[in-house]
Amino acid sequence: MSTVTLLGFPRIGRRRELKKALEAYWRGESDAAALAETARTLRHRHWTLARDAGADVVPVNDFSLYDHVLDTAVLFDAVPERYRALGDPLAIYFAMARGHARDGHDLPALEMTKWFDTNYHYLVPELHAGQRFRLAGDAPLAQLREARAAGHAARPVLLGPVSFLLLSKTVDGSAPLDLLDALVPAYRALLDGLHAEGAEWVQIDEPCLVLDLDPAARAACARAYAALAGTGPRLLLATYFGALGDNLDLAARLPVAGLHVDLVRAPGQLDAVLNALPPSATLSLGVVDGRNVWAADPDRALPLVERARARLGDDRLWIAPSCSLLHVPIDLDEETRLDPELKGWLAFARQKIAECRCLADAVAGDLGARAALDHRRALVAQRRSAARVLRPEARERVAALDAASTWRSADLDTRRRLQAERFGLPLLPTTTIGSFPQTPALRAARAAHRAGRLDDAGYAGVLRDEIAHAIRVQEALGLDVLVHGEAERNDMVEYFGEQLDGFAFTRQGWVQSYGSRCVKPPILFGDVARPAPMTVAWSRHAQSLTARPVKGMLTGPVTVLQWSFVRDDLPREAVCRQLALALRDEVGDLEAAGIGIVQIDEPALREGLPLRRADWPAYLDWAVACFRIAAGGAAPATQIHTHMCYAEFNDIIEAVAALDADVISIETSRSRMQLLDAFVRFRYPAGIGPGVYDIHSPRVPDAAEMQALLERALEVLDPAQVWVNPDCGLKTRGWPEVEAALAHMVAAARTLRAAL
Ligand code: GLN
Ligand code: ZN
Repeated sequence: MSTVTLLGFPRIGRRRELKKALEAYWRGESDAAALAETARTLRHRHWTLARDAGADVVPVNDFSLYDHVLDTAVLFDAVPERYRALGDPLAIYFAMARGHARDGHDLPALEMTKWFDTNYHYLVPELHAGQRFRLAGDAPLAQLREARAAGHAARPVLLGPVSFLLLSKTVDGSAPLDLLDALVPAYRALLDGLHAEGAEWVQIDEPCLVLDLDPAARAACARAYAALAGTGPRLLLATYFGALGDNLDLAARLPVAGLHVDLVRAPGQLDAVLNALPPSATLSLGVVDGRNVWAADPDRALPLVERARARLGDDRLWIAPSCSLLHVPIDLDEETRLDPELKGWLAFARQKIAECRCLADAVAGDLGARAALDHRRALVAQRRSAARVLRPEARERVAALDAASTWRSADLDTRRRLQAERFGLPLLPTTTIGSFPQTPALRAARAAHRAGRLDDAGYAGVLRDEIAHAIRVQEALGLDVLVHGEAERNDMVEYFGEQLDGFAFTRQGWVQSYGSRCVKPPILFGDVARPAPMTVAWSRHAQSLTARPVKGMLTGPVTVLQWSFVRDDLPREAVCRQLALALRDEVGDLEAAGIGIVQIDEPALREGLPLRRADWPAYLDWAVACFRIAAGGAAPATQIHTHMCYAEFNDIIEAVAALDADVISIETSRSRMQLLDAFVRFRYPAGIGPGVYDIHSPRVPDAAEMQALLERALEVLDPAQVWVNPDCGLKTRGWPEVEAALAHMVAAARTLRAAL
């Protein structure tokens, strides 16, 4: 029978035990021994859970206290000099992860960025030319010993050297891949150690093999594996998140004993993989979706397994989830309050392992497994036609969309003129990005409301008071375009999901975002409809309190899509169009309520970019179209803003311009306005609010500092197009620092305005 394995398991724990243990340790409420004990308990619990769910072999060293890329850097001693003075290894580790500003040290953390196209963030190793590596730890060996002692068949997991280097950055501009020859001997030493410890197989992850690779990276793969394969444990080269594509021949020629491929993202690659696979190599089939929460459809998965089995037989075939299960919650059984029909369609990590088991058993002829697959087929069919999933009105509206729905009724110049007449704003108008501080009192009121201790009217009263306070503060500060402050929102996606049909929410469906931080993405399971306005009452209330314009605040369709678990029975772009139509209706209702400025946030537009460049244009096409559907119904005198808080616009500037927003606010303070380059080169025609201060830090910059940043912006942009705002929303800050910073911001704008 085929072996059932998995590439990795969530670390955080069913009840986020790791989060709690980490945060207690950081607060000084527990010690290293207690943290290590929690970690050990979780590892054992997860191995047992995986085995009991049906895994023949469990992964080890997939666990991490914070991040597996950081673990790899530390394991091979790639620790930047500045951290070493801390001495204690755990202190060094957490300083690299989160910074360390105590005891006379002021050490910023390593940079953090997204792991491929997931919402998991890894720490970017910081390397330099001439870097030396050595095997500086024994975590993989110790965990292997631990698992075996507990009676598990275990397979160590390592991040491969080429992906590790490609995910790293250098401080001196040298190419990380130049360090390959220095790094490989340390890997060799580790593999030898694992071999001596009795590891038969080692899984070595090279997700970079699904990316566009240049010749240097391809050569690096060949060189690395020529040095690592052969003696020692057998290597399973794991690829995931996409098709091997033009890297297939390279991957198949590497002297490794096995290959894992992602057949959920790229089912079409199976035949090519089977043809390219060397005669004795093992194939690990990723047929159960490790990135999403839907139960596997046997009619998709089973034919793939059967085809592979016909070619390879049982011994050379393994069944696994498509990638590490890090990206899904742990156990659906925790969801005792989820609607049973919907619950029947889902599978979390534990259930996904069981699905692999069931597929392996079914192809081997097990009657129980076959019956289970038949039952699953019935559920899949029922899901397809369930009333909560299929809303003909939503389908018809999307089908009726034409090109005209994506166009504002007037061009940018006309709109600019009408909006100038309507709002009469000064040059360099000041505004904020939307949210104001979520105070402890506000959070307490929300918790009380959720728990039923505060009734709807009481909660609404708290929110109305909070909004009134935000309006008073903004008027006193002298801001030009006000916001209501988003007091009613816990999360910018959840808030909208909760009011739209087609979404469901879990209680324990946590997924690690970074370190101890977890998110609980909504489940977008059905056609989207908006039963009632979502934000209008709050915006209307805010506008009733002031004569200045209040900006309505919506989360854009692409961002809602990107930060949810999205149904897999409809193309993403079709789902996104449904979201866009719901938002279009909301924009219309805001206008009807007298709101003249509406911001549609799209902070996740960029992270939705596909991993392969060739797929970018198609994505950007529909993503831009969806934004324009949301905004396109607005009258010419209604000013549409958008907001994106990230760093890199060069390669998407055309798409950003094509959104046809009247004003965009972006993050620029940390790059000292360098980010404007893309907009300047493109001659971006609309309004731009380059963020003048970094909201991620409690530091309050003075007016001169913000003025200096604005002066830089004014050198390269038309003063008539410049807006003045912070980098992002202020919900994580406290009121005193917000008021101080915004007072400086308004002062800086006024000084410059007077000089124009
Ligand atoms: N309007 C949102 C806020 O101010 C935008 C948040 C974001 O860009 N992530 O909080
Ligand atoms: Zn932002």
